[in-house]
Amino acid sequence: MLQQTTVKAVLPYYNAFLKQFPDVNALSKAKESDVLKMWAGLGYYSRAKSLYKASQVIARKGFPDNYQELIQLPGLGPYTSRAIASAAFGEKVGVLDGNSIRFLSRVHGLKLEWWKTAGRNKLQEFADRWADCDDPANINQALMEMGATICLPQNPQCMLCPFLKDCQAKKKGFIEKLPLKKPKREIETWLWQPLVHLQEGKVLIVKNDYAPFLKDQWFLPGKAKRQKTPPQKYDFTHTITHHKIYVKLRVPIQKGSRTVTPRAEAHWISPNHLNDYSPASLMKKVFDRVKY
Ligand code: SF4
Repeated sequence: MLQQTTVKAVLPYYNAFLKQFPDVNALSKAKESDVLKMWAGLGYYSRAKSLYKASQVIARKGFPDNYQELIQLPGLGPYTSRAIASAAFGEKVGVLDGNSIRFLSRVHGLKLEWWKTAGRNKLQEFADRWADCDDPANINQALMEMGATICLPQNPQCMLCPFLKDCQAKKKGFIEKLPLKKPKREIETWLWQPLVHLQEGKVLIVKNDYAPFLKDQWFLPGKAKRQKTPPQKYDFTHTITHHKIYVKLRVPIQKGSRTVTPRAEAHWISPNHLNDYSPASLMKKVFDRVKY
């Protein structure tokens, strides 16, 4: 829930979520649509889906107690599985986050493309070496704290640093150059032309198999095309991660005749039931603009 937001913003969602699903078994038995409803407003809906899927695995097999099994759970990547394995089970595995990457890159003088697999693996070896001790949980925490409080991105507090004498970046004078900068992800411009099929006050929704944003979620039929430049005509814009979406609504007039043959995964829904299917704010923006 804390992805790209603050604890303060998340707390009401967190408390409501736990009230609804007090433990892993309750979550595993819920309907996915109910889980998504409790997540509505937080964005990153694939996380809610992964959490839900992971709860079903855990309810069946129990909670894994090591990194190799933790990382098999839906939604758990190297960071989360290593953090849990070391903090909860004392496994000697290092944790890489932005802060520990900065500290390790500088103290060992590593000019690595840490966002690529080879660079990441090399850094992981260093982190694992640090964690190969009696207290891997605290070492992992310490590496992250070093980056968060002393080895800052700008103006690192080298005079307060316990590693000042051994720091390679300091010795060679390239602190500011490390870690290497990850190239920015290109913003993609898209024109999305959703078709709002209306019939007796209901709207047709389908599973999204054609647009790269909100993939596999309940969506409107239509077309999405990547653009070199922003289109001239559109109704509104919306941004999802690196997709800048120009939305041009198309509302075909249908007088009673059923001109649309829905695919297998399709529903006619009342606009006030949208949240049961899609909590995405992009969908809400479209539905708010249609006259039923
Ligand atoms: S000496 Fe400075 S650059 Fe090196 S690890 Fe410490 S704070 Fe970071």
